[in-house]
This record gives sequence, structure tokens and C-alpha cells, in this order.
Amino acid sequence: MANLILILGDQLSHTLSALEGADPGKDLVVMAEVHDEASYTSHHKKKLVLIFSAMRHFARELEDRGFRVHYHHYAPDSPHQSLEQVVQDLAGQHNADKVVTTECGEYRLDAEIRQWHDRLGMPVEIRPDTRFLAGKEEFARWAEGRKQLRMEFFYREMRRKTGLLMTPDGEPEGGHWNYDADNRRKWTGKPPAPAPFRVEPDATTREMISLVEQHFSDHFGTTEDFHFAVTADDARAALDHFIDFALPCFGDYQDAMSDTEDWLFHSILSPYLNSGLLEPMEVCEAAVQAWYAGQAPINAVEGFVRQILGWREFVRGIYWLTMPDYARENRLGNQRSLPWFYWTGDTHMRCMQRAIDSTYRNGYAHHIQRLMVTGNFALLAGIHPEEICDWYLAVYVDAYDWVELPNTLGMVMHADGGYLGSKPYAASGKYIHRMSDHCSQCVYNVNNTTEENACPFNALYWHFMDRHQADFHRNPRMKMMFRNWQRQDEDRRQATLARAEWLLDNLEKL
Ligand code: FAD
Ligand code: SF4
Repeated sequence: MANLILILGDQLSHTLSALEGADPGKDLVVMAEVHDEASYTSHHKKKLVLIFSAMRHFARELEDRGFRVHYHHYAPDSPHQSLEQVVQDLAGQHNADKVVTTECGEYRLDAEIRQWHDRLGMPVEIRPDTRFLAGKEEFARWAEGRKQLRMEFFYREMRRKTGLLMTPDGEPEGGHWNYDADNRRKWTGKPPAPAPFRVEPDATTREMISLVEQHFSDHFGTTEDFHFAVTADDARAALDHFIDFALPCFGDYQDAMSDTEDWLFHSILSPYLNSGLLEPMEVCEAAVQAWYAGQAPINAVEGFVRQILGWREFVRGIYWLTMPDYARENRLGNQRSLPWFYWTGDTHMRCMQRAIDSTYRNGYAHHIQRLMVTGNFALLAGIHPEEICDWYLAVYVDAYDWVELPNTLGMVMHADGGYLGSKPYAASGKYIHRMSDHCSQCVYNVNNTTEENACPFNALYWHFMDRHQADFHRNPRMKMMFRNWQRQDEDRRQATLARAEWLLDNLEKL
């Protein structure tokens, strides 16, 4: 019995379920760089380099472990443009008994692979992805019967299940489940942020940089200064670097933004977690270990573990529970097009310009930039969810549909009617001013709302509140904001709405 074992570009884990019980002497591992997967969105150039290089390194590691690997190299004129074509061809050539694979992370490709049994006329065994800490069915059971899903409750279940940061008698370490209230400090340059972990490109990565420059020159971003890890060993070194140098301050400055520092105290581990070079449990355990060893405070470690054990697993659960309908949701009825400056960074709004510039150079912006700057602006401006989701999917090195979509459509755009989050994260320029030093470098005045030089976030924020009163006035977490709006005198409110209307008509000029 010979199996074709298909391994996808985000399945680069030696513990992958598709490899369980594999016979290196008989089975053939298949890995393929195909046009359809590289081009279904305008993936950031650094993402393509990272995935192609990491795939090639992983294939070599499998060969070193004795596996036969058929590796399909990218070629724009290849007769095989899709994974199905590659698999079909090889199945015939090798007279394979069946295809074995691990369930794919994305609905689009998952739906295709589930048809292969009929289309290829051979058995296709699709195994669960055991690298996640909550299985799809487990999440569905947890969600059953709940009208609204709240991450915090799911997270507590996951803490209990894994024992992470739990005392032997089942209580949360430190006495609290969540230390978020301690994690809202503004960063003023001290302590200095650590330099990001760097891996200099080896020959394979350099080859991938040339390939991407040659064949994907129209994609967003740049390959310049590529320094991501492309092997599990280097990704583990990146994890160690984070634990030693950034984790101690991760909590304090988790929500901070800087005009000069791209990475602050974030881990920059999502590209490795999402491609399989690192597994969530090893990352969480390393952080928890640092707390037990007295190397990092509880607010940092709990905050970090919550992102992975809580948010990451939670959004994945929601994705699989609700797709494909979720992707079409637009409960706030947004219709506006995405302004072009999202692609160019050509805007006077300093906070937006810095976030988009970092995105272009690094394929990275940290969570608060994504949520409270580029995301917040899209929410306030009423951008069509599909357009902003397409942008987030294209521009980040860590972007995969299962994690990008719920974050953008649910958390940022509130387009799912509050299924994922209890209230929209709408905020005026005041929030950005409180958490960053952008405003002092901006042509707009964050203290103004109606004047010509007023920060656009301010009037747009009130316009958002005004136009969505019917959607949110019953939400207890938003009552105070509505009261503040209603308390303003009528002339002031009219001037604010007029300024917002002008901004909405002139988004491209901002
Ligand atoms: P850290 O701040 O160091 O956090 C540690 C880890 O926690 C991350 O590596 C990540 O694996 C996990 N994490 C943190 N927040 C989230 C979250 N909200 N959802 C899921 N995992 C989380 N994350 C992606 O991995 N891919 C995406 O395509 C993606 N798109 C996003 C789109 C929007 C609009 C928003 C608001 C967030 C998005 N996120 C996405 C979540 C988060 O912004 C990134 O995971 C994080 O910025 C990655 O950087 P880091 O590794 O330095 O994270
Ligand atoms: Fe952003 Fe407004 Fe501050 Fe300018 S003034 S940086 S637009 S929040």
C-alpha cells in the first residue's frame, strides 16, 4: 500500500497528523508551490518568500529523515497550476492507493479537497489538525446553545483543560484569570524595545527572494531586509529571544504604539505558529516557564498566553462554526470602497501612515495598529467588510483566512452582529493619542473635531455613533458614549456631522 501524503505550506510540522504512521520506505510525500495558491490574493512578498523557503527547508528535513519527497517547484508556465493537478498526476504515476492529508486551514481549499475523492476517483483520507488546542467539534460543543460567544469564558475552559497557569487545586495562578487592566501603558521610549530577532537569508531564501521579485513583482510589499526564520530551529530561537528580551514588558506595553518602533515588545511569532514551525503549546509553556522562573511578571505571561490559548483558538473555532456564511456578513450595511492609501500609505494621518508603512516594509503591524488604527478607521468610515478583509488577507506575513477573517469581519468591523465581540472597538483620535506618540507628528490636531485641521477620527467617531444608534443603543457597554453624544449641543453636533460628511466624501484626500 503506497500513500501520497500531501503537506500544505502552512503544515510544516513534523508532528503533523498526515505523517502519523507513514512508511518512509513506501509512501511519497508531496509538497507543491502552485500558482493558484500563491496568487488567490496579492500575498505580501515577504509572506511568499517565507512560505516557499520554509517549505523547501521542511522538504529537505523530511528527506533527511528518510522520506521520499516529490517537491513541485514554482514555475509560472507549469502545466500544473493547482494542488489537485499535481496530486492527480502523481497518483497516476505512482499508482497510489490513497491520498492522506491533514485538514486544511482555509474553507476555500478545504471544500476543494473534500471533493477530490469523487474528482480523482480514489480514497482521500483527511485527518484532523491536532496542532490546535481545541478541536473543531470540541469548540462547537462549547458554543452550542450560546447566543453570543465570549472569548473570556472559552479561555477559562482552555486554561482548565491545559492546566496552563493553574494551581494544583484548579485556581488561576496569581488569583485572577485576566490581568488586562494592567496592560495599558503608553511607551515613552523606556525601557528600550529589544531589536527584533533576525535570521540572515541563506542560499534557499535568497533564491526565493529572486523568484518572488521575478514572478510576483506586482504583489504588495517588499522583500528588502528579509529576516524571518524559515526553519523550526530558527523559529525556536526566535521564541527564546522573545522570552528573554521582550516578554517581561509584553504586558505593560501590549496596547502601546510608537512612531519610531515597529515591533515594540511583541513576539512576532504568528508567522511561525501559523505555518507550523512552532506549535501553540510549546510557545505557551515557554512563557509560563518564564513566570515560574521569575523572569517575567504574571501580567505579561497571562496576557501572552491569553492571546494564543484564548484568542487564537477562539477565532479558529468561530471560523469553522460559521463558514461559509460568515464571510458574507455585513450587518452594519457598509458600502464604501477601501481608500487607495491603504495600499500606498499616502495619507496625512500619521498613525495610519506609520501602520501602513510598517505593513509594507515588514508584512507586520502589531495587534493594536491593526485593530485601533487601520481597522478602526475602516469601521468608522463604513468600508465594505469584503474589501477590508481582502486587504488584511493580502498584506500580512501571518495572514490566513481562518484567523484573518474573524478578526477583521468580527472583531474590527462588527459585521457579524456581535457574535464574536460584545461591542465594536470604535474609538476617536483620543485613544490613539493616549496610547502613542503619533499625534505630535501629525498635520491634524487630535484635540479638534470640526475644524479644517481636526483629526479625522474624531468627527468620524461621532458620525459612526450617530448613524448606528439604532444598532447599539441597547448595548450596555455603549450607553455612556451615546449619552456623551446626546449631551453635546445641537449646533456642535450638526457641525461634527457636517465635518464627518465632508471627510467621508473626501476619504482619498485625507
Ligand atoms: P503578539 O502580540 O506577540 O501575540 C502573541 C500571539 O498571540 C500571536 O503570535 C498570535 O498567534 C496570537 N494572537 C494575538 N492576538 C490574536 C488574535 N486576535 N487572533 C488570533 N491570534 C492572536 N493574526 C494572525 O495570526 N493572522 C492574521 O491574519 C491576523 N489578522 C488580523 C486582522 C485584524 C484586523 C486584527 C485586529 C488582528 C489580526 N490578527 C491576525 C491578530 C493579531 O493582530 C496578530 O496575531 C498579531 O499581531 C501577530 O503578531 P505577534 O506574533 O507579534 O503577536
Ligand atoms: Fe492619527 Fe488623528 Fe493623531 Fe493624526 S491626530 S495621528 S490622524 S489620531
